[in-house]
Amino acid sequence: MSLPPRMRAVVFERPGAFTVTDVPTPRTARGEALVRVHASMVCATDQKILAGKFPATKFPHVPGHEFSGEVVAVGEGVTLAPGTRVGVEVHVGCGVCDRCREGMYTLCLNYGKRETGHAHVGFTTGGGLAEYASVPAAALHELPDDVSFEAGAWTDNLGIALWALERGRLAAGDRVVVFGPGAIGLCAAQLARAMGAGEVTLVGRGERLWRVDDLADDAVDERDVETLKGTADLVVEFAGTADAARQAIGTARRGGRVVLGGSTGVGTELSGVDLSTIVRGNLDVLGSLANPKGASARALTFLARGKVDVARLVTHHFPLARFDEAWRTFTERRDGAIRVMLHPAAGT
Ligand SMILES: [Zn+2]
Ligand SMILES: [Zn+2]
Repeated sequence: MSLPPRMRAVVFERPGAFTVTDVPTPRTARGEALVRVHASMVCATDQKILAGKFPATKFPHVPGHEFSGEVVAVGEGVTLAPGTRVGVEVHVGCGVCDRCREGMYTLCLNYGKRETGHAHVGFTTGGGLAEYASVPAAALHELPDDVSFEAGAWTDNLGIALWALERGRLAAGDRVVVFGPGAIGLCAAQLARAMGAGEVTLVGRGERLWRVDDLADDAVDERDVETLKGTADLVVEFAGTADAARQAIGTARRGGRVVLGGSTGVGTELSGVDLSTIVRGNLDVLGSLANPKGASARALTFLARGKVDVARLVTHHFPLARFDEAWRTFTERRDGAIRVMLHPAAGT
């Protein structure tokens, strides 16, 4: 297949300004595969990138880190066959630093240094809100036959949710409370159920919560969160606010586990926690970042077996040319938007 020299892509030109325009099709370096993007989503992290809150992201930048597609060409050293359907995991470590050697490539000590082999797809390298993306083969997961491109775009997100549950040592029969009924929280709730949690309760706000409450066993409005105080074996937080983190700590039973995963950007401070809640409660309070140690590969098996429904978390679909509308729909939470999906390979 001969590749077009130029492609349509979303470009974050500078903080606060984006366009959809033609740019050169990325060249595939050693160790990379060129992926024709079939399904690609935007998330709140893209808002932080556009706002200039990720110093490692250099403008102009092609964003997009939740996507899937088909391999159309490979660089030197890559054995993936053209036509292979793949989902993308966004963290690639250098492979040789102390954290990478532990399997914690999400914490790579060479973050942002592409020359070491490190890549954070859609952050420090070009992403999937484009017709094509050149992605390190180490970030690609072959999609099981039963997983569509649309579901495969959740490869990274599902890994993030699964890793948080693994961090929290989810045990069969556990009472689990999930704060934040957004895309990742809803993945976590469904995975927890599939992994044998005894009862899963979602905590969130308003109409958005009631629309998805069937993805858990119970749902509680955050204003009534006191009713859950001290009850949960495992609390998982993907709301990203200090309030939610504080409430999450208060919701764990004595001896329970709390996994905080929402505040991935800097600047959110936690106050108002009586430290004796943690110390006398003998709590495990853990941070959870991304999806190391092959979490995304394991998560894909849940998708393949129909244990997790991601289709209904995609509330809107757009062609790439209508990115502007897709962005507004997502950022303004129009019509109860959870995730919006772009379809670059489908053309305009
Ligand atoms: Zn994301
Ligand atoms: Zn490393």
